[in-house]
Amino acid sequence: MKFGVKAWSKGRARAGVIQLIGEMEIETPALVLSTRKGLPFFISPDLFPSLPSPDSHFLHVSPLHFLEGLTPKTISNIGGLHQMLGLHEFGFAAVPRDSIVCLPDCDSTNKTGASFETPCGRLLIKPVEYMKMISSMNPNLWVTLADEVPAWVSEKRNKTSVDRTLRWLDDCIALNSIGGAVLGAIVGGSSVEERRRCAQEVAKRNVSGYWIGGFGLGESMEERSTLLNTVTDNLPEQKPRKICGLELPEEVLQGIASGVDLFHSTYIYHLTIGGFALTFPLDRTVGNVSTPQLSDIGSDGTKINLKATVYRKDTSPIVDGCSCYTCQNHTKAYINHLLNVHEMLAQTLLEIHNTHHYLGFFRVIRESIKDGKFEEFWEQFIGNRREHIFAASLTA
Ligand SMILES: [Zn+2]
Repeated sequence: MKFGVKAWSKGRARAGVIQLIGEMEIETPALVLSTRKGLPFFISPDLFPSLPSPDSHFLHVSPLHFLEGLTPKTISNIGGLHQMLGLHEFGFAAVPRDSIVCLPDCDSTNKTGASFETPCGRLLIKPVEYMKMISSMNPNLWVTLADEVPAWVSEKRNKTSVDRTLRWLDDCIALNSIGGAVLGAIVGGSSVEERRRCAQEVAKRNVSGYWIGGFGLGESMEERSTLLNTVTDNLPEQKPRKICGLELPEEVLQGIASGVDLFHSTYIYHLTIGGFALTFPLDRTVGNVSTPQLSDIGSDGTKINLKATVYRKDTSPIVDGCSCYTCQNHTKAYINHLLNVHEMLAQTLLEIHNTHHYLGFFRVIRESIKDGKFEEFWEQFIGNRREHIFAASLTA
């Protein structure tokens, strides 16, 4: 794995390039697409070429998805993750947590391993088991095991989580038999001191980059920037930083403003499953604040709810001018119909559009950093959201 920072905004935001497979370069800040067992939720592999390349060639995978099924030995015999999934031109980042079905369960975590709530029940994963899975899967990047805790735990529990995460980091590195790029996990909850201590300690280790855990677990938007800045200010500049738990557009912007490079987001999944489509403008201009329609429940200026009856006779695409397969071939009325009759094609078409749109959002952010205008873009985006919420409150 190679990584380099190419441009900085006026603040901490940075644009760079990450190389995972061969000569394929993916620009950062980048979105690492969520998967279920290594593949997107509703997009079949033959539809992959309809997504923007190479931006869509970076996938997030949770080794825990395979724990109760394929053994590490079988995965290894198949030839690892790339061979098993038939995706040789894709980069994989393996992270225990996936924010949908593998959630950290800090009450059951103990000194021997980390506990997760999964569809197979509660699982305790020890570093040695975790590393067996990593070795068999052979991902391009992998994250060390962390003891993630929510924002409301006691100071003592938070300190323990940092101590354990550092110990497991050393264990994982010592047990690593495949080489590959290791991202050292950083935790520390809502404590600036513990965040700093953890970042400084992980920065001393021989790792290729960093994974910032413990966000999206109850901390407020207000305290988040200080915590994030504390972490990134204590990390070397020339190594990538990946984060989990910042999913919404405004959260992603907050992470990028603090110098985070890679985002794993389940936002696309949650939108798609709810029948929503992303619609916010991607051209860095101030979008017009449209008056929300009362029957269009759930629309908020960034997305529309395609289940709403207002779209029943709407013969336009989700976004005029969108180059995705869905918008090039289908109308809002058709997707509204598919949703109403519970056809899975609705989710497939929505996931294609939403993935396209969110990757486009990251592209616009990268351009704004390279032009030295990220801070203005950020302010404008948040301002638009505020105006829309205000307009919506007047019509309510
Ligand atoms: Zn589209």
